[in-house]
Amino acid sequence: MPAVNDALDRLAAAADAGAAPDAADLEAVLASADAELMDVVAAAARLRFRHFGNTVKLNYLVNLKSGLCPEDCGYCSQRLGSKADVLKYTWLSPEQAAEQAAAGVAGGASRVCLVSSGRGPTDLDVERVGKTIAAVKNAAPGVEVCACLGLLKGGQAERLAELGADAYNHNLNTSEDTYAEICSTHTFADRVDTVNAAHGAGLSPCSGLIAGMGESDADLVSVALGLRELDVDSIPVNFLLPFDGTPLEGTWELDPRRCLRILAMVRLANPSAEVRLAAGREVHLRQMQSLALQIVNSVFLGDYLTSEGQAAKDDLALIADAGLVPLGLESAPEAVREAVRPRKRGAGTEVAPNA
Ligand code: SF4
Repeated sequence: MPAVNDALDRLAAAADAGAAPDAADLEAVLASADAELMDVVAAAARLRFRHFGNTVKLNYLVNLKSGLCPEDCGYCSQRLGSKADVLKYTWLSPEQAAEQAAAGVAGGASRVCLVSSGRGPTDLDVERVGKTIAAVKNAAPGVEVCACLGLLKGGQAERLAELGADAYNHNLNTSEDTYAEICSTHTFADRVDTVNAAHGAGLSPCSGLIAGMGESDADLVSVALGLRELDVDSIPVNFLLPFDGTPLEGTWELDPRRCLRILAMVRLANPSAEVRLAAGREVHLRQMQSLALQIVNSVFLGDYLTSEGQAAKDDLALIADAGLVPLGLESAPEAVREAVRPRKRGAGTEVAPNA
């Protein structure tokens, strides 16, 4: 394993040259020691600021159709046979979806992601989503819309582009070698085909991963380099939320430093891609979310598909404290200052100390 500072030098040189990074150097980033963590974050931060300046893209998810999926992705609370306590409902109407999206846009989101559970849409579903895209864009002119509807069949990506979708998300999730361990009802190649179909239809390709599912460092590097090969524009990085009632229940492998190394590795592998901090960030990064903003240039605001995220005001405070500016706003949100609270407990009082 190369020493991490040598690896970071080579990764920086590869980024400068627009060359593919070496997998062993990316693995060295994941294997780095806690004492080297700031070197790793700094190397990734240089690329983040070079390509995106001080901006943060805020994305807002609307789950158009939740639960009861016939597929068996092991990480997913909406999978076949899931006992997870999640909302289950069929398609929101275009008006209902637009109302949800408007809340996210009012909170600062510049991209709305319209998501549905299921293997993939029927042609009728695609038309229905087209009406929803129109309703979202009417209510919030200028907003980008990303559709995330599962595996696409011939012609569906083109039709979504005609109907006004700007982007299409379909995550690779994990490496090709381990894909069969997390899903038996479709293949890694099926997912690659859909990402390529979206790209070919002129939709901005968005595809990412989930960390913390038992994969190795080599698997994480493999999926990060796979996304580079697919030339995706944006990469959501999710950290597994091991819902009770799913096969990965009880799988807790991540800690905040590991999450930072994973984000940095993805950034170093894909210097100019939008790297999005996605589901699981509150649970796994906890107090280190502010450091993650030095690496990623994008976050999901609000709630996730089946789990609750932190309050939007807390996200805006994190962004303001980092001196970053949400895309579409001219200046950073105002920092929230806590009032100074004189001590009235502990030494010199009869009140229990703060310990
Ligand atoms: S296809 Fe999508 S909704 Fe269905 S189980 Fe897999 S990840 Fe979940």
